[in-house]
Amino acid sequence: MNKPKMATEKGVPSNSRVLMLLGQLERMNGEAMMRDVETARQVTAKIFHLIQTQGESKHTQNDNALYCTFHRRVLSLPQSTRDVQTTLNILYILSELLTVGRGRRVGVFVSKGGTGILFQILITTSKELPPSEELMLQLHSLLAKVGPKDRKFGVKARLSGALNATVNLTKQNLQNTKLLLPSHNVVRLYWNSTVNAISLGKNGVVELMFKIVVPFTVDCHNEPTNARRAVDAGHVHVLLALYQDWHHNDTRHRHMLIRKGLLVCLRNITNIKLGRKAFIDADGMRILYYSSTECLPVRTLDPLVNTSSLIMRKCFPKNRLPLPTIKSAFHYQLPHVPAVGPVAQLYSQPLGVDDVVDESDDNEETDADTENDTDNEEDEKDQHTANEDIETDLNKLHPKKNPGRPFEELKVYERFFLELSEDFQGYNFEPSKSGALNTEGVKQDGSPVNATRHIQSPLLLGGIATRRVGGGGGSNWGSDCGSEGTEDEGGEGAVLEVPDTALLLPLHDPDLYVEMVKGTHSVPQYAEVAYPDYFGHIAPTFREPLQERVYGVQRSKIFQDIERLIHPNDIVDKVVYDLDIPSCPVIEDNGESLKFNSQFESGNLRKAVQMRKYEYDLVLNSDINSNHYHQWFYFEVSGMRVGTTYRFNIINSEKSNSQFNYGMQVLMYSVQEAISGRPRWVRTGTDICYYKNHFARSSIAAGGQKGKSYYTMTFSTSFSHKDDVCYFAYHYPYTYSTLKMHLSKLEALRTPQIYLRRDVLCETLGGNSCPLLTITAMPESNSNDHICQFRNRPLIFLSARVHPGETNASWVMKGTLEFLMGTSPLAASLREAYIFKIVPMLNPDGVVNGNHRCSLSGEDLNRQWQNPNPELHPTIYHTKSLLQYLAHIQRAPLVFCDYHGHSRKKNVFMYGCSVKETVWQSNISATSSDLHEDLGYRALPKILSQIAPAFSMASCSFVVERSKESTARVVVWREIGVQRSYTMESTLCGCDQGKYKGLQIGTRELEEMGAQFCVALLRLKRLTGIRNHQHLLDLESDIIGTSPTTYVVEEDEPSFLEEIDYSAESNDEDAEPEIEHGIEVQENANHLDRLSDCETNHKD
Ligand SMILES: [Zn+2]
Repeated sequence: MNKPKMATEKGVPSNSRVLMLLGQLERMNGEAMMRDVETARQVTAKIFHLIQTQGESKHTQNDNALYCTFHRRVLSLPQSTRDVQTTLNILYILSELLTVGRGRRVGVFVSKGGTGILFQILITTSKELPPSEELMLQLHSLLAKVGPKDRKFGVKARLSGALNATVNLTKQNLQNTKLLLPSHNVVRLYWNSTVNAISLGKNGVVELMFKIVVPFTVDCHNEPTNARRAVDAGHVHVLLALYQDWHHNDTRHRHMLIRKGLLVCLRNITNIKLGRKAFIDADGMRILYYSSTECLPVRTLDPLVNTSSLIMRKCFPKNRLPLPTIKSAFHYQLPHVPAVGPVAQLYSQPLGVDDVVDESDDNEETDADTENDTDNEEDEKDQHTANEDIETDLNKLHPKKNPGRPFEELKVYERFFLELSEDFQGYNFEPSKSGALNTEGVKQDGSPVNATRHIQSPLLLGGIATRRVGGGGGSNWGSDCGSEGTEDEGGEGAVLEVPDTALLLPLHDPDLYVEMVKGTHSVPQYAEVAYPDYFGHIAPTFREPLQERVYGVQRSKIFQDIERLIHPNDIVDKVVYDLDIPSCPVIEDNGESLKFNSQFESGNLRKAVQMRKYEYDLVLNSDINSNHYHQWFYFEVSGMRVGTTYRFNIINSEKSNSQFNYGMQVLMYSVQEAISGRPRWVRTGTDICYYKNHFARSSIAAGGQKGKSYYTMTFSTSFSHKDDVCYFAYHYPYTYSTLKMHLSKLEALRTPQIYLRRDVLCETLGGNSCPLLTITAMPESNSNDHICQFRNRPLIFLSARVHPGETNASWVMKGTLEFLMGTSPLAASLREAYIFKIVPMLNPDGVVNGNHRCSLSGEDLNRQWQNPNPELHPTIYHTKSLLQYLAHIQRAPLVFCDYHGHSRKKNVFMYGCSVKETVWQSNISATSSDLHEDLGYRALPKILSQIAPAFSMASCSFVVERSKESTARVVVWREIGVQRSYTMESTLCGCDQGKYKGLQIGTRELEEMGAQFCVALLRLKRLTGIRNHQHLLDLESDIIGTSPTTYVVEEDEPSFLEEIDYSAESNDEDAEPEIEHGIEVQENANHLDRLSDCETNHKD
């Protein structure tokens, strides 16, 4: 029958069988054992089998008794028998017996001298050649189990000689991972004794640890097969187990180096995809996440946390951006598509092609990819990308006047230069009369606007619906899907109090703004007006210092991102705003989510996804007719809770570094503040940082490169008003409608002494007009002399805002325009000195539609100056024609300057053009005659550095780069022959020198810069006013000094206490020297600084 048999095998009877066999063994001891090896093997194997199959009865009291018998009778056996198999069987039995009893039995084992017995077996075995691998494995597994219970473990090991036996074994088996793990564990236990640690140190065990590590690490990137071999051999699992083990046992952090060494090993193995997979399969994310979390409070363990974080980011499964396509959510059909280039590619892309992620994104090739981010987004590059980018053809370098189009064609531009032929006959120069040139007919309103006015529904054009602030949760609008609420909830309550800002904002008028918006054409046909543009902005009076970076911010943000994987249940993942859903971008909600909006002029936000209760992922929209170039953002948030901290992540940033890592904050505008009399943008946000994230960037988006990721710009903020509507922006917004309003107000400021003409240079693709201003002083009279002086004033040609995202350029331009229209004696002198031709916004369409870089043609207009297309790039085509016309009539401007914003550098500075300084940089051999150059190009920046606090001469550069050969500055210098042809770059962030050192830049400082630019022109006039040209050169040289500034090669930014690890890509650390030098694993801060150097090869 079955039952009795079961009882025999599992119950007490089996124990008595074991006891019987043990007795048999004991009797064989001594002579008999040596003689009858076979019997000894059989008996021990039987005992092992019986014990193994005992099952639950192991825990019985009987079993303990059995163990004691075993210990007393059998454990000395291996010393008498030299038979490996018998010894192994005994160790198996022992191992089996010691696994039960929760360590109590191990205690018994130790107290009965078990450790010593095991050491003896170890020494005996190690003398065999070669020692049995299986035996060593079993022995060390047992020792690893026993060691922690034996306080004298280390001492016993040293005295018995077992210590050396283990070390030797490890040294001899570096490639043997099966043996490596247990023996390594035992070494670690030996280490607990200080004497041993010293002894082990002398024995080269530290080096040994690295030898364990090295086979998988050295040349990993050059020789991926090493890493692959390591993966195949299951080392990832072993390494993780080792790391975890050291983590738990090295409680006093004495062996950080070893722990770091293990991580470095993992880091290298995970350079290959196979390694990353093995890491994930071995639960590496969880293991490193929890160990790192435990390390976080101990600052000295930072290297471990940082390396762990690097590994985790590398292994983090790549996500897809939550988009149907990376092409802009807005469509604008071009009148004709260029034959080649990115726009042509965009149009030829077959329907249904997924451009968000690559189909085979798991290509091994990606492992070798380096951080050569394509530099297509910035218009001025960091200098140290160096020589290949610098023009090296001396013939091309020298300015060559190129009249371009025949004069017959250019003659039509005469009408934009009426001042050059104006004779003012019939004009009344009586001072009381106002000018006759005011073509806009905007009344100058002398009296300030009423203190407070009540106006109704001002923020929607065409009377679609009413927008309100307060009550009912923020904003409501008349989009097709949202007819709910506005009328019924508030009735006629749609009333806004306009703050009395007329005195503080002389160029602002809300009503006029709305009028201007009505004439602005946007691709999405916006029907709304953003409050900040409506109310206007008054620069705050308080200082806004660069934000000090808190140590560990980036790390904690990255850990929060990793937690999405570790705790998936916390993730809400709810889309709350989506421009890709036709006609209904605002998604219904239950009051648990913020509401977003970006459908107004210059707005940019494509999608918002609520990830956690108070955390949102935001996706920006590509420039129209493009699939990238996003950086500018401007959106509205409402439905917030007061006092709650929200985290926002812009998850599809493209650049590899950002001033958000160097003290820059985002801008926020509160409507509640505005209606309380404080209409202003303020720098906002804490925990700001910028880092590479886990969203895959397709090769289409990355210029052909595979395996790229996007970057996250994250910031946290809280709101202080209930029922507020707040706006966030990348920089101080300045819309096209704002420009039109400012121009109208400026015209109204005109006095009879001012000659101001506003022409329409051309229409843009989007149907917006591009204004051209002419500003100078009226002649004193219509006498010949006065008219002659009037016509012969040198010309100054200014432009701005070719890049829509560089709104600071518009604020600088506003400062220039206001100064030029001012009543100060300086302004009057300036007008009398020059004729100003100004195109204040070269890219109105880009500005209107919330683009960052391009026009509607999907191209960077500042790369089209060599061959602008009249249809696709009308503003550039016609601006260049104006300059060509001037060159033709020998009236090329004295100064050309294009205002830009710079996202990578601090301060305000200029780029100019110099053959000599370019030659210096490029090491072209040139004769001295080539280098004979007028230093006049340095005068204006030098003057600016003396009078404008934000301006920094040290940041200026006068090198002509090949990648810039189609920019305004280079083309105007080379083709039109303007020696003083500049790009003026204003920081988006702040200053690190001068009066504003340590402060973020604001509109007041930007406008001041624009005004100081005018003052500098006046000083330049005094220099150039001298007739003798050679004398002028001497004078300039005297003032300027003849030695050119050295080319700026230093890093823009100082290093931080916390490493700025922008990237999660493994190969960033390839050059790390730590492993080659064995023990030098100290986190190498300098090295990481160098990394960040390489990352900053971008600028505006
Ligand atoms: Zn620019």
